[in-house]
Amino acid sequence: MTTATVVGSGPNGLAAAVTLAMAGVDVTVLEMADKVGGGTRTSELTLPGVLHDDCSAVHPVGAASPFFNSLDLEAHGLTWKHPEIAAVQPLDNGRAGVIHRSITDTAAGLGIDGPAWQRFFGPLADRFDDLTTDFFRPLLHVPRHPITLTKFGLNALAPATLTARRFTTPEARAAFSGVAAHALYPLTRPTTSAVGVMMIAAGHKYGWPVAEGGSRAISDALVSILTEHGGKVETGVRVTRLQQIPASDIVMLDLSPTSIADIAGDALPKRVARPYRRWRYGPGAFKLDLAVEDGIPWTNESARRAGTVHLGGTFEEVAAAERDVHRGVMPRRPFILLSQQYLADPTRSQGNIHPIWTYAHVPNGYTGDASEVIIDQIERFAPGVRKRIRARFVRSTTQMPTYNPNYVGGDIITGSNDPGQVALRPRVSINPYWTGIDGVYICSAATPPGGGVHGMGGYNAAQVALRRLST
Ligand SMILES: Cc1cc2nc3c(=O)[nH]c(=O)nc-3n(C[C@H](O)[C@H](O)[C@H](O)COP(=O)(O)OP(=O)(O)OC[C@H]3O[C@@H](n4cnc5c(N)ncnc54)[C@H](O)[C@@H]3O)c2cc1C
Repeated sequence: MTTATVVGSGPNGLAAAVTLAMAGVDVTVLEMADKVGGGTRTSELTLPGVLHDDCSAVHPVGAASPFFNSLDLEAHGLTWKHPEIAAVQPLDNGRAGVIHRSITDTAAGLGIDGPAWQRFFGPLADRFDDLTTDFFRPLLHVPRHPITLTKFGLNALAPATLTARRFTTPEARAAFSGVAAHALYPLTRPTTSAVGVMMIAAGHKYGWPVAEGGSRAISDALVSILTEHGGKVETGVRVTRLQQIPASDIVMLDLSPTSIADIAGDALPKRVARPYRRWRYGPGAFKLDLAVEDGIPWTNESARRAGTVHLGGTFEEVAAAERDVHRGVMPRRPFILLSQQYLADPTRSQGNIHPIWTYAHVPNGYTGDASEVIIDQIERFAPGVRKRIRARFVRSTTQMPTYNPNYVGGDIITGSNDPGQVALRPRVSINPYWTGIDGVYICSAATPPGGGVHGMGGYNAAQVALRRLST
């Protein structure tokens, strides 16, 4: 029987493991942490019974993932729950940019920018499934839907600052900036529209859901399918050398390129070792989880009903904060992502104590404590929140790589979204998943299609490995 060892149980590692196991391969996953899931774990970080997502919280790309949608994850315990409103970016005057799952409702709320929003995102949302067929694969391939891909590509290549010019109101511009900032790259640079355009289009098609019971439900469902097909997971095993991995026909590494360069050492061909060692990491994240009595008293009414709240003010403020963190400067008011998953999934709360998930974009390797600036930024749009905080849990930027070595310097997407790395990752090759060592593959977020919980890197890498076996 063909054997495979997968190192790392993030969504990509588990997706690779499931794909291989379903093809009849005998799969073992080795995970250094005592819990499976990598970026999809959930813990009682503040108070007993209050469930916080350790990393990923909101899953437009998970709900849109062709791989996830090919599995019956629901039968294995995953239920997507949708908040009443997808995402809100409040402004100082009490108004906000509001993104609903419905593009019609979104456009209706954006006043004179409504038609422009609908014209721009509507066709991309309508053709989103065609888009994923190509977008979730390596750049160097023959596209199945070249016209849709070309249209998306032209829009994606633009800097977010250029795309924002389609809109004139502060609300629409802010709404776009908060999603574009997920790219963690200066919004003035080419390709920074890609992430925002893709996430908004995905959101209009699939919503911005959370997983009932916490994001761990995603990894638990994948593990359940894996074990059903005879696979197993061993936790508490940190791989430091390639030789430590049991002899297997296929080795899948759900790891950063630099980790692989360290683990593989001289076994890695120089033409691969060089780009892996030079892999660039982006800004860091500083995570703060709060237990808040009665939830956050947002001034803006829509923010009280939104699963995701982007905190950064206007487009210009967000762009300035992202430019600063990229330069290694901690902004006075950093861009913050905040999620109120409990609004869609009340099982995460204990009575009137609700979990609030936040993180700030900060410089890579930031050594300071951003807790107070995060709370200040929430207080700016929700006066009185500080008095409602009953407990907090910090995972600082420097603690991130200890929690998960893939987050080098606190970079939670395992590699800077600079144009070169967006296009060709983790190196220039028609087979970016192969490490150059016979049977050994990389499948982490450093491979196409990049960060996020969608499992497509793992699925694509496993397909390559299976094809190689059969030739
Ligand atoms: C704070 C935060 C918020 C996020 N928010 C979202 C969100 O809302 N939505 C979204 O879609 N995405 C989000 N992400 C990103 C998403 O979690 C990642 O892009 C995704 O998890 C990447 O999956 P992966 O399988 O490539 O790697 P990871 O999830 O990073 O998993 C890698 C696994 O490998 C293990 N490992 C590492 N080194 C070794 C070793 N040497 N030996 C054994 N095991 C090892 C790690 O412990 C980990 O379990 C967020 C991430 C963070 C940290």
